[in-house]
Amino acid sequence: MIKTHTLGFPRIGENRELKFALESHWRGETTEEELRATAHELRLKHWQAQIDSGLDFITVGDFAFYDQMADHIQLLGCEPARFEFKAEQSKLQRYFTMVRGKSTENHSCAHVHETWALEMTKWFDTNYHYMVPEFTSSTVFKAHTASLVEQIEQAKTLNHPIKVSLIGPLTFLYQGKSKQTGFEQFDLLEKLLPVYGQILAELKAHGIEWVQLDEPVLGLDLPGNYLAAFERSYLQLKSSSIKILLATYFSTTQGHTSPVCKLPVDGLHIDCVRAEEDLPLVLDWLPNYKVLSLGLIDGRNIWKTDLEAALNKISKTFDAGKGEVWLAPSCSLLHVPYRFNNDTTVNPQVLPWLAGAIEKLEELELLKQAAKTQLQGKTLTGALATLWNEHQTTVKQRTQSPLLNNAEVKARLAALAPTADQRGSEFAIRQQVQRERFKLPAFPTTTIGSFPQTKNIRNLRARFKKNEIDETTYWQHISQEIRQAIEFQERIGLDVLVHGEAERNDMVEYFGEQLEGFTFSANGWVQSYGSRCVKPPILFGDVSRPKAMTVDVARFAQSLSEKPVKGMLTGPVTILQWSFVRNDQARATTALQIALAIRDEVAELEAAGIGMIQIDEPAYREGLPLRKARWDEYLNWASKAFRISASPVRNDTQIHTHMCYSEFNDILPAIAAMDADVITIETSRSDMELLRGFGEFHYPNEIGPGVYDIHSPRVPGQDEIVRLIRKAAQVIPPENLWVNPDCGLKTRGWEETEAALAVMVKATQVLRDEL
Ligand code: GLN
Ligand code: ZN
Repeated sequence: MIKTHTLGFPRIGENRELKFALESHWRGETTEEELRATAHELRLKHWQAQIDSGLDFITVGDFAFYDQMADHIQLLGCEPARFEFKAEQSKLQRYFTMVRGKSTENHSCAHVHETWALEMTKWFDTNYHYMVPEFTSSTVFKAHTASLVEQIEQAKTLNHPIKVSLIGPLTFLYQGKSKQTGFEQFDLLEKLLPVYGQILAELKAHGIEWVQLDEPVLGLDLPGNYLAAFERSYLQLKSSSIKILLATYFSTTQGHTSPVCKLPVDGLHIDCVRAEEDLPLVLDWLPNYKVLSLGLIDGRNIWKTDLEAALNKISKTFDAGKGEVWLAPSCSLLHVPYRFNNDTTVNPQVLPWLAGAIEKLEELELLKQAAKTQLQGKTLTGALATLWNEHQTTVKQRTQSPLLNNAEVKARLAALAPTADQRGSEFAIRQQVQRERFKLPAFPTTTIGSFPQTKNIRNLRARFKKNEIDETTYWQHISQEIRQAIEFQERIGLDVLVHGEAERNDMVEYFGEQLEGFTFSANGWVQSYGSRCVKPPILFGDVSRPKAMTVDVARFAQSLSEKPVKGMLTGPVTILQWSFVRNDQARATTALQIALAIRDEVAELEAAGIGMIQIDEPAYREGLPLRKARWDEYLNWASKAFRISASPVRNDTQIHTHMCYSEFNDILPAIAAMDADVITIETSRSDMELLRGFGEFHYPNEIGPGVYDIHSPRVPGQDEIVRLIRKAAQVIPPENLWVNPDCGLKTRGWEETEAALAVMVKATQVLRDEL
């Protein structure tokens, strides 16, 4: 028997309807009823799309107004105490307070009456951010199923089998955070399980046959206590007598595949895209009476599936004696755009290769028909055969397309000298010549790159894009912005300047648009968090740089000042990480190709007289594989890609990099291996604690720990900054220390930016005076 389903569907809407409905509700323009009505309509539309494309189940429970983990916090009744029930507040209002925070207006000291939101962090290795549950020893759980049941009742009106999707208890716990020192949230499991049991029993009472419980933590190097708890947890849930499909995805379960196959559940979903190697093991170990759900369609990328290869896997499954096989995307379709057909801006040659959620459901149906036909010992005929052949032709046509291949790039990469990723001399020598060249004071001050992206700038760019103003006019305005940024930085006395990035919409898109091998969609939005969406560039072919991308701007900015103005680039790993990337060659190869393009830009900046070049790598850490065993391989090519970008320059050219997060401790050797002359990082919110690791590791190069948090408009006090720099100087040799904010300032206003940077410069002066 063959059935099809999806683990989840994009909830934001084909035209981001949910985003706009949420934002107008938050602005107070619509009522809660109106917002609910929009959500209801969207869910119906999405279920109908699943029915229309032939899925055997529609999935209920994947909807959320903001985030699915946040929904589970309410479902399980474990909101932290600060979001306590208030009679005048609806449940949804409480939910929005929990995910967005709330500060009391008209209060001079906002901090006192502030209900800060839950923390947000990335969902496994995706770019989707979830709300982190908070746990203490007094956390209690209580089932609140009203909203889930309401969705089930809505779905029932469509008269189609329903599968409910929930996050499993162990993943829910593990992805949360203990807020009490010494308390292990794992200890809450015994309290949590009965509540899950009750929810499952209620689902059963509402006529639900199947529930999908997502346990992606099974793809991690999971601590022993969690692993060991699976068996007894699922045994306990079994008593609800609803059928459970345990869903794993994103990564291999190897190391514990056999026990996973033996868990007391009715079905297992595996990710055959990211963990293809698990399939033979599962075929061996999963008892034949259990449903095996094969995740055959990539839920993390946008390329059409090679259905022939997928069909092969299905045959193997039946050959192995499996009775009931379900076909599905590898994971929830939350991570891909709604659909691509009709997109107006994607390169028309690339467009037929792409599949969004809707196209992926169509692939699933085609695959089901083909598998059924094959099971009957027949071959596809008629319209289905035509569809299948067309599809496969398109898939093949991509792999053979000249559009993908640039012989010159391939040859250059193949012929790259083994020393191409090395600077001319080791850091100590470079540091000396750079000091002689730049003669910077102690604790040099700088910023991370961007200055406030004012409404003015955004309007200007929008009008330029729509051809309402010509290129000359556009650049006249941008030049004016740069001029003002430089004047401002000189006025307050910063040592190393930036041009402010006024010409950039987004740090990846800006480069993608100028590189060969990329294309952009008009509507390929993917939810990032809450109502926020991103539209990742599509990297389809060999990457090359037809011409200089930033040199004119950098040269112009440098001409305005005697002080060094940093050339500003985005690094190869970040460009890769924030795009949808071709899957017909190793990511490492693609990263090295991007690195070559950036390398040429770096060389040209140097030739244009730019003495300091910053190559941002904010996504360097998030590229880490979920399994530690694969870290080294990744870090090897990632640091190599960075070094290839950074190494064509003379010893006295100073390479900077920037990373805006602070969990470095486990990858310090790989950060050091990038060999940037200066690295700026985020540290202010951790009170410099995170710099300690760099100190203990004896990080060899120069470092600029962020001395104030740019995520809030608050202007820091001079004493605060002085204290932070002092603290930094205790763990890092003071002669290697720079002073800068945590990250770029594009989301800030000018007023607070001017004030904060002036304070930063004054604080630095206090320390210099002590020398
Ligand atoms: N140079 C970029 C900026 O200042 C860096 C942004 C980032 O690290 N995310 O905006
Ligand atoms: Zn940053």
